[in-house]
Amino acid sequence: MITGTTKILGVMGYPIEHSMSPVMHNAALRQLQADYVYVPLAVPPADLAGVLTSFRAIDCRGFNVTIPHKQTVMAHLSEISEVARSIGAVNTVWLTEQGWAGTNTDIVGWLSPLRSLPRPQTVVILGGGGAARAVIAGCVQLGCQEIWVVGRDLTKLAALQTSWPQIKLQDWSQLDYLLSVADMVVNCTPIGMFPQIEDSPLSVQQIELLRVGAIVYDLIYTPRPTKLLQMAEAGGCQSIDGVDMLVGQGAAALELWLGQPVPIELMRASLLEVLEKKDRSG
Ligand code: NAP
Repeated sequence: MITGTTKILGVMGYPIEHSMSPVMHNAALRQLQADYVYVPLAVPPADLAGVLTSFRAIDCRGFNVTIPHKQTVMAHLSEISEVARSIGAVNTVWLTEQGWAGTNTDIVGWLSPLRSLPRPQTVVILGGGGAARAVIAGCVQLGCQEIWVVGRDLTKLAALQTSWPQIKLQDWSQLDYLLSVADMVVNCTPIGMFPQIEDSPLSVQQIELLRVGAIVYDLIYTPRPTKLLQMAEAGGCQSIDGVDMLVGQGAAALELWLGQPVPIELMRASLLEVLEKKDRSG
């Protein structure tokens, strides 16, 4: 129940209507009987600084940050975690006595389904945008030996080596050889995302180059499964979709704000319910 003492959490983005985060956060807050509400916050880029000041004044305890604020918010924080610095983006902010502090929980979320699997040694990451940066940092934390990033523009990809000199870069034309030696392929492009559900970053022939049991991890969660994951499963690979990452990053943020464990399975179930409704309605 929202009362006179209820505190605000939320997710700042622009646009923000598509966000799934309110569903899973509010499900968890209700279960915990925590006196908080989590709301979508449409913040135009030009208003970010003003909103941050106002939110301190109204005792907002924290919020998530999504596109287009993940980088720009960093200039307004008094403290930034090492992990967020390495990724170059913040997705979770909380209030301290000194001001706003920020971190990035995408790595925790991305790593969560891999914890129970043998460590992949050779990883091929498709795409080199914002999500790929979290995935690279996750691979480094996991201790993967070879991390390949495949992209369309090698000059653009080279910027990633400033943060992680150990990674190797390749363009899409050289992908087939990498697939034959990969223990895990991670799709960090939007290829195959709703509504382009018949698209896939890899062809059937390329899936056949992967060894049986290799992990194919698609960050996309609409549709479930993506074309890529359908083909990977048919080819004997292990498939992981983007739901665990989304739930894991949200749960890590909520734990940070509340300072207590949160019901992650309930968060997942509430999210899946909404995703299934969306899948059914096309
Ligand atoms: P982004 O910053 O825009 O990066 C997208 C990357 O994909 C870029 O490297 C881009 O290459 C590449 N790309 C786009 N279209 C391509 C195409 N047709 N062919 C080849 N490469 C292409 O986006 P992002 O934030 O990293 O997100 C990437 C995907 O991950 C999205 O589908 C997003 O929904 C998903 N995601 C999921 C989660 C989760 O919690 N599950 C979290 C974050 C993101 P160029 O630089 O050459 O354009």
